Amino acid sequence: RDLTGLDLDDILGTINAEVRQRFGEGRVADYIPSLADVPRDRFGIALALLDGSVHEAGNARERFSIQSISKVYTLTLALEAIGDELWKRVDREPSGDPFNSLIQLEHEKGIPRNPFMNAGALVTADVVLSGFDAPERTLLEFLRKRSGNPEVGTDEVVARSERESGYRNVALANFIRSFGNLHNDVQDVLDFYYLQCSLRMDCVDLARSVQYLANAGRCPVSGERVTSAEGTTRINSVMMTAGTYDAAGDFAFYVGLPAKSGVGGGIVAVVPHVMGLCVWSPGLDEKGNSLLGRYALHRFTRMTGLAVF
Ligand code: GLU
Repeated sequence: RDLTGLDLDDILGTINAEVRQRFGEGRVADYIPSLADVPRDRFGIALALLDGSVHEAGNARERFSIQSISKVYTLTLALEAIGDELWKRVDREPSGDPFNSLIQLEHEKGIPRNPFMNAGALVTADVVLSGFDAPERTLLEFLRKRSGNPEVGTDEVVARSERESGYRNVALANFIRSFGNLHNDVQDVLDFYYLQCSLRMDCVDLARSVQYLANAGRCPVSGERVTSAEGTTRINSVMMTAGTYDAAGDFAFYVGLPAKSGVGGGIVAVVPHVMGLCVWSPGLDEKGNSLLGRYALHRFTRMTGLAVF
């Protein structure tokens, strides 16, 4: 994948201008006040190339709630903790159902379809809780080192609102527990999950934080090996098939990169061997993906020829 001849700043400038014409499209998540209050007219994009350079446009330095993007990092930590044993407790198939769906769990005896649905993320959180002495600190340190930003932190107000409104997550966790697929206290698992959802980062932090997935498992920011090359292949493949809720097929079609979205309007993506990237715009489409973020990624892969297909 050759970037020669591509003026990345020019491309980002064009995309930024196009997206700004469309401000107002999409619906901001409103299940908790801290998300509902975020203005819709925001857009940021950042590229973190493996040579250390960063290209950005728009509101790429404004922090937002990363929400389900955190599932990429807890999946990585869960694989570090128990390796392929993880796949006995959570599958790796796309679901075709919404992210917070309960419906397949009964048939599949408490084994969630993939680690990026809420059900799968709760099992992953459980594995991280069992696998590390100080799981919350481990997750925070992980993101601070991956992004190179020691100020990455969580938002207690968001975490509290998630807990107050998390009826469906409570149901999911208890249902999974009834099949014996959670080993820790249900409330502890939920609290860890709410905490990971409440992490606040900006596009530049997040683009840097997925670079290990473009770099055969090694983080170019810290120089550390984060996962094996095989682990990277696996995480990227699950992002491609299940990272964007029940629109993963559409994302493969229009964007063509492994990606993970969150209801805060962020989407991280990976161009294998080349870069990590992140877009953010709070207005969501009906599946819960950032509407303008998806448009921006579509334009980006078409203008650069960097889709993996
Ligand atoms: N906190 C949200 C929930 O668990 C996460 C949503 C998301 O980003 O997918 O419902």
